[in-house]
Amino acid sequence: MSSKIKILVPVKRVIDAALKPRINKAQTGVESKGVKFSINPFDDIAVEEAIKIRKANKKLVDSIHAVSIGPTKAQDVLRIALAKGADTSSLVNVGEANVEPLAVSKILQKLQAKHESNLIIMGKQAIDDDSNQTGQLLAGLLGWSQATNASKVTVNEDLTVEVEREIDGGVETIKSKLPLIITTDLRLNEPKFVTLPKMMKAKKKPLEVLKADDLGVDIENRLEVLKIEEPPARKAGVKVENVDQLVQKLKELKAI
Ligand code: AMP
Repeated sequence: MSSKIKILVPVKRVIDAALKPRINKAQTGVESKGVKFSINPFDDIAVEEAIKIRKANKKLVDSIHAVSIGPTKAQDVLRIALAKGADTSSLVNVGEANVEPLAVSKILQKLQAKHESNLIIMGKQAIDDDSNQTGQLLAGLLGWSQATNASKVTVNEDLTVEVEREIDGGVETIKSKLPLIITTDLRLNEPKFVTLPKMMKAKKKPLEVLKADDLGVDIENRLEVLKIEEPPARKAGVKVENVDQLVQKLKELKAI
């Protein structure tokens, strides 16, 4: 393993977080036609953190490599990662396939080996499938330590990493040697917007395109989505005039 830090940051292209997803006609997924896509917010935080770690530890960080598994258009999110400061990137082009977390982890495992990464910073969850599985599966496949839901990361000179994690009712601080997988929580940092000149410069940075087959990973899904449904519409509320009426109403509804 390298004596310097080689960071791998997976970034997923997902429907923009500000949009309300609509269910497709077949009720098997979310309608993606004519919809704005963006970098998964937790992955944006992961890229930001990788850049912050390099700024704070210039001599310790050797490289930052971004990877996305998705359609050709997922190049957009890689360009954002490159514009923010990643050095190189890979697109594993799977077309429109919706690759499950296990296959994503296997692809990431191959890319870790290729780039000899010893620190993987990734989102705790992709906001489209809400699986919250990939980091944990990857840690299992690699046999690495994992610090999930990180809210603060500090890299020490001796290449140990301290991670604060928000847990029920408090904060847990853990310390690990490399190699390590960190998954990001919302409070880790506030990602900056990328400027147009940076986006233009990023066009010159390396973006290799691979296929899952090139990596020997079978991406066939193991799960079949039978149906997805919208949550039931909320019923209109009732206005009450005073506290007595409120108590009366709550009693009627057997809420108290
Ligand atoms: P999930 O387990 O699907 O909720 O995803 C957790 C994290 O795994 C995401 O925040 C990404 O960092 C990474 N990930 C999942 N799917 C992909 C993908 N298709 N391409 C790149 N990274 C991914």
